[in-house]
Amino acid sequence: MLTYKNHSEKISLIKEGKLSLSENITFFLSRIEENKHLNAFNFVFEECVENAKSIEEKIKAGTAGKLAGMVIAIKDVLALENKPLTCSSNILRDFKSVYTATAVQKLIDEDAIIIGKANCDEFAMGSSNENSAFGKVLNPIDNSRVPGGSSGGSAVAVAANLCDVALGTDTGGSIRQPASFCGIIGLKPTYGRVSRFGLTAFASSFDSIGPFANSVDDVALVLEVIAGEDKKDSTCEKVNVPEYSKSFNEEKKFRIGIPKEYFAEGLNSEVRKAIEEKIELLKQQGHTFTEISLPHTEYSIATYYILTTAEASSNLARYDGAHYGFRSTKPANLEELYSSSRTQGFGSEVKRRIMLGTYVLSAGYYDAYYRKAQKVRRLLKNDFDAAFKQVDLILTPTAPSVAFKIGEKTNDPLAMYLEDIYTTSANLVGVPGISLPVGFNSEGMPIGMQLMADQFQEEKLLQFSKQIS
Ligand code: GLN
Repeated sequence: MLTYKNHSEKISLIKEGKLSLSENITFFLSRIEENKHLNAFNFVFEECVENAKSIEEKIKAGTAGKLAGMVIAIKDVLALENKPLTCSSNILRDFKSVYTATAVQKLIDEDAIIIGKANCDEFAMGSSNENSAFGKVLNPIDNSRVPGGSSGGSAVAVAANLCDVALGTDTGGSIRQPASFCGIIGLKPTYGRVSRFGLTAFASSFDSIGPFANSVDDVALVLEVIAGEDKKDSTCEKVNVPEYSKSFNEEKKFRIGIPKEYFAEGLNSEVRKAIEEKIELLKQQGHTFTEISLPHTEYSIATYYILTTAEASSNLARYDGAHYGFRSTKPANLEELYSSSRTQGFGSEVKRRIMLGTYVLSAGYYDAYYRKAQKVRRLLKNDFDAAFKQVDLILTPTAPSVAFKIGEKTNDPLAMYLEDIYTTSANLVGVPGISLPVGFNSEGMPIGMQLMADQFQEEKLLQFSKQIS
């Protein structure tokens, strides 16, 4: 088993000769093999063990990068040159990437080791990882339950000890919700904090890349590496990236807002209880709590599903059977090439989103849906701006329930969409959010708590998370 609790301990063990990096990678590869039934990986790169020797030497010589020897899984929507990039879709099943995503390249430049591509919902659309052309992913704590989604494979890879850290993506909760369902930490950075270059677009004005880990230290370290401006993504901003661990020893008392709309009907009673107990504890530690209001919260799910489907319908137009990936055989003409390739290549949830998105953008409905949703997005942003004038952080549940059973919500898309009730707002307004484990329900399933901070204030999120975990 693993004998370290974060990356700096791992490095010390390697330096002292108590841990061999090759053995460590072989250990993870054997864990992946033993846990094949979880279906966390679409592809495993066994050849990564070959990197171990040179990185281990660099560590011992003191010339290694910040993430030397950290074994990382990446969600299969992130590009890595010459490796498959499937987005868990049949339409890209045989597609290989011709370049590497900036975030992934930054990991490699700091001597991290990429162990494989993690399973996910097709094109990151889903909350349960049941929408994958590579099959569903199982929750490692209870195999009859979902791991959450869409970055389910990444969350499971970390929770089941198949790697040190994983990268996921979050458009409406896809890092935070699976982190909560699997009992680990997951961070969605500010929109524009991490370059999206090489991330297959779902909803470009919402998508963000972030880490899953078992410790706040590792989340902070990975964010530090992947964050920062990138000429290849014009939405990625030039904002200073702090060395997060520097503030970890300061004892700071935080002002925390509890939005009353997030504790209304529909919240599972055991989840509510766990969060309320945590709040009590935090009060005793000297943090101050204020009830706040985010009055447009009730519109967030509708706004999210109008805007993200609109963006997705446009982004996914490029999969036409001609440019990328799957092409249906013997179409009678060009139009049939497009329609049959898309009909056969996309799964049903992706098709549902493309149809919804095309509808809300169509002439006659554009004003009623798309334009209106854009205006509501601004109102939501105003809510958050007002809240952050009063408080440092906003605390909420991550999801309304613990991990649900496989198949429980597959025939009810609306129930599935409601899973995202607490997480979509952060993406609508572009602020960072983290999910931290806060306990278990009576069935032993993990419960997650979400913290949000104002844009580019990840330092506050991480400092507070470090203090309380
Ligand atoms: N569950 C949400 C959706 O299906 C979020 C997905 C995501 O964050 N990628 O759209």
